[in-house]
Amino acid sequence: MSRQQIAAGNWKMNTTPKAGVRLASAIAKRKRPEDVLVIMASPFTHLAAVSEAIKGAPNVKLAAQNCHQSESGAYTGEISVDMLKSVGVSYVILGHSERRQYFKESNELLAAKVNTVLTKKLKPIFCCGEELKVREAKRHVRYVKKQLKEGLFHLSAKEIVKVVIAYEPIWAIGTGVTASPEQAQEMHAEIRQLLAKQYNQKVADSISILYGGSVKPANAKVLFGQADVDGGLVGGASLKATDFVQIIKSF
Ligand code: PEP
Repeated sequence: MSRQQIAAGNWKMNTTPKAGVRLASAIAKRKRPEDVLVIMASPFTHLAAVSEAIKGAPNVKLAAQNCHQSESGAYTGEISVDMLKSVGVSYVILGHSERRQYFKESNELLAAKVNTVLTKKLKPIFCCGEELKVREAKRHVRYVKKQLKEGLFHLSAKEIVKVVIAYEPIWAIGTGVTASPEQAQEMHAEIRQLLAKQYNQKVADSISILYGGSVKPANAKVLFGQADVDGGLVGGASLKATDFVQIIKSF
């Protein structure tokens, strides 16, 4: 079964609108395999401009890094899915470990955000992943399964196939320490088996599961070469067009 291969860049709180447009244009213009879906998650302030910059580029989509679970209302400082949609956003990253850690986002809250994103016909990129102490205690598989069960498994089979899952071990994010290809494959296979058990094999085989955590041009090929790794969610290396394009070419 061939799943969508995805290279997603999470710019986090980096770049100004001008720099973001320059980065997006450089990536969109560059020759790359057209069957790889490229997603760029820019800060809110430049989503509209980046959307313009990537217009017409084949298989390049725009993502937001978060959204509010309500449609609208008195939520000062927040952003709604309709607002994101109006500026060309197709995907929303949900449950990134930085949101879970610094903004105390729970699986329950994330389940509500997932619903809102899907109701509005956008696609969630749902992040999961364990801290180092959880892995050291050999509880990582159980931990990630709980995140998925509580954040996603209220969805129907028809809904969950619209979700992209990103496995991002926290100890590998922004640290320069990458999970070994075996560690990534082990968790991705566990996630896929869990999807098959909860839904069915066809559903499990159709969902793209991305690895995130210090993906670089030097390690992307071996990570993406694992049977259940369908691409990457890339932080630091997505801020340099040449590095990100090299990662896109690593499938
Ligand atoms: C991320 O923030 O999703 C991430 C994986 O970051 P980095 O690639 O910098 O580790």
